[in-house]
Amino acid sequence: MGRGDGVTERFDLIIQGGGLTGLALAAAVGGVGGRVLLVEERPLPVTTAARFDGRVTAIARGSKQALDSLGAWAGMADAAEAIREIEVGETDSLGAVHYDAAEVGGEPLGWIVPNQRIRQGLLAAIDAAGPAVTIAAPATITALERAGGGVEARLGDGREVRGALLAVCEGRFSATRATLGIGARRWDYGQTGLVCTFAHELPHLGRAVERFFPDGPFAMLPLPGNRSSIVWALENGLAKSVAGLDDAAFTAEVQERFGDGLGRLTLEGHRWSYPLILVWSHAYVAERAVLVGDAARGIHPIAGQGWNLALRDVTAIAEIVVDRLRLGLDPGSADALERYAAWRSFDSLALVAVTDGINRLFANDVLPLKLARGAGLALVERLPVAKRFFMRHAMGLVGDLPRLMRGEAL
Ligand SMILES: Cc1cc2nc3c(=O)[nH]c(=O)nc-3n(C[C@H](O)[C@H](O)[C@H](O)COP(=O)(O)OP(=O)(O)OC[C@H]3O[C@@H](n4cnc5c(N)ncnc54)[C@H](O)[C@@H]3O)c2cc1C
Repeated sequence: MGRGDGVTERFDLIIQGGGLTGLALAAAVGGVGGRVLLVEERPLPVTTAARFDGRVTAIARGSKQALDSLGAWAGMADAAEAIREIEVGETDSLGAVHYDAAEVGGEPLGWIVPNQRIRQGLLAAIDAAGPAVTIAAPATITALERAGGGVEARLGDGREVRGALLAVCEGRFSATRATLGIGARRWDYGQTGLVCTFAHELPHLGRAVERFFPDGPFAMLPLPGNRSSIVWALENGLAKSVAGLDDAAFTAEVQERFGDGLGRLTLEGHRWSYPLILVWSHAYVAERAVLVGDAARGIHPIAGQGWNLALRDVTAIAEIVVDRLRLGLDPGSADALERYAAWRSFDSLALVAVTDGINRLFANDVLPLKLARGAGLALVERLPVAKRFFMRHAMGLVGDLPRLMRGEAL
């Protein structure tokens, strides 16, 4: 390695990690003819199986526009439920904010899509890119060297490949991040996110609800039909006890928290648990490499923004790479990396701060804080300008957006 002697294949971009982020990046760059190698350590039949990921994702308007432009939305549209109202509040205070699609012209505020259907949609878009994208799965990179104005990687099967740029999409516990010399801060919230789907008797009318209980936030997210997904964050010990309940007792706990607004709840399928840990990388780039998605920073799911943020990373780096390829320039050069780091750092920092702040604020039961929270929520509710600002932010329509996020072609 290093002199390129044994290199058998050359790519514009090598992507390490085939989660939602890596798949979206492969679809974006491969979709316009960039040569991409996607390396995923798990076999595709494992990552695409229903049991692998029980989460749903709240897709903001900007993200939906990007998925549409990538040709991925068509493969998930029938599994997407439009969000028409969002209700955020505490159970034991008067403060609550209510967002309505009518306040922003009647268009949905976002969409809820099961992660496994997002995967399918992205894989279909990659398929449509034809030979531009090579998927190696299950596979890992066993040796990595940055040399001769590129990056050389040896795969587990002995193949040596070369790329102009490496995109690390390994998720928040990325090991390659450290190999590249990038450190990361880590904060364990001591919480676990319990996730599952319920069928209910009455229609949800496209209403997403987030309620803050003293022991953690609880979200109910609408799915097609009379079904909703819940994300229930609890302190680890309590989460373990709740997860250990049988289906009937667990359903009764959820019904008690959520009330009878949707009629009787019936658990659908499996229940999943996710540890909630904030990981925040010290840098997003190293020589010939970029961190993308949760590998750059993995945030608390309290605002449903993690993958929307990841998709803004994806569309930014895809635009930088593709623009340079079109001009015959090096997509992994230092100025390309600087552009990516500068473009993504503010948005990233803002969401780390906001999600961490909201979680801490609502996890605290001190009376003055409770009163301030209630007053804050009530104030936002009464100030149309502030409300619209928060809505447009949550819809992913604010800031220096990459072309794909604006619904334009790459
Ligand atoms: C409970 C919960 C609810 C959430 N809800 C929302 C929401 O509503 N909206 C939203 O926007 N976000 C949400 N998120 C966040 C969202 O799920 C993540 O941001 C997103 O899944 C990150 O995807 P990723 O591909 O970056 O990372 P990951 O999903 O972690 O994928 C990393 C991939 O890399 C592979 N990999 C790792 N190491 C290697 C290696 N060395 N070689 C090869 N492959 C490797 C792994 O096998 C995996 O496939 C939620 C998160 C949680 C926990």
